[in-house]
Amino acid sequence: MSKIDLHCHTLYSDGALAPAELLMRAHNQQVDVLAITDHDTVDAISEIIALQSAEKRELHIIPGVEISTAWHGFDIHILGLNVHWQDAQFTQRLAQQQSTRLQRAEEMAEKLEKAGCEGIFETAQKLAGKGQITRAHFARALIASGKVSHFQQAFKQYLAKGKRAFVKPNWISVIEAVQWITDAGGTAVLAHPSRYDLSAKWLRRLMLEFKEAGGEGIEVMYPGLSPSLKNQLAMYAKEYGFYGSMGSDFHAPGRWCELGRHLSMPEHVIPVWDAWSETTKMQVNA
Ligand code: AMP
Ligand code: MN
Ligand code: MN
Ligand code: MN
Repeated sequence: MSKIDLHCHTLYSDGALAPAELLMRAHNQQVDVLAITDHDTVDAISEIIALQSAEKRELHIIPGVEISTAWHGFDIHILGLNVHWQDAQFTQRLAQQQSTRLQRAEEMAEKLEKAGCEGIFETAQKLAGKGQITRAHFARALIASGKVSHFQQAFKQYLAKGKRAFVKPNWISVIEAVQWITDAGGTAVLAHPSRYDLSAKWLRRLMLEFKEAGGEGIEVMYPGLSPSLKNQLAMYAKEYGFYGSMGSDFHAPGRWCELGRHLSMPEHVIPVWDAWSETTKMQVNA
């Protein structure tokens, strides 16, 4: 049985590891199939594929992305799996999201200054380096400045929806994200459906709209899911005719999350790799 992980981050967004470090870790964890899904960028992918081609142990890389979208005031994350990451139109479209990110960061910086947190933006930019700047970088910068003592506190006091430094993001819509992914030959998957604080009624509304837009899958397995939630997600996949996806959403080495750990497709859910070419499927099932 292959060890499959279809969701993780590198330092091209808010992940802690460089492509080479992430790849080494995936090999050490005996991962066989790994999708790279940074926030709004595919910048890590060429590098990681090139590195893998020089490795002895086989590991199949799935090019992916995690696109931020705005839906009725919620930040909804749509994974694009198995995308043509070098597609010119696709990379141009992602560049649009990247400028939205930078613009939001600048507005957050202003709000933080007003709240008495100076120089946070500069630190966050340094931490982000050549990667996409995210609220996770602002959180780390707030910790470094001593304004907060831990990550969640940064969100609770400043960065979360409705807090002092929150800026309503201008992300694209769910429908656009699905279009971008589909145009780039990829499979659109609704990321971590239970992490949006949506009631069952609103989650159903989201899944319906996502499905009608051409969304093909939902994540049914990721860290922190209770058995009952796991059942619920499997039921939704069956009910709406979604493929199931699974991923660690790995950001950094730590106690709670590891590449490829504790991931298995619930019974009777059709795995997302069934949507892919015979060659890809063969590599996944090898
Ligand atoms: P952004 O996409 O820039 O809004 O950044 C959001 C990222 O911050 C997520 O992808 C998570 O990795 C991280 N994060 C961690 N804790 C929280 C939280 N409580 N609320 C929102 N984002 C969080
Ligand atoms: Mn993240
Ligand atoms: Mn996410
Ligand atoms: Mn993620």
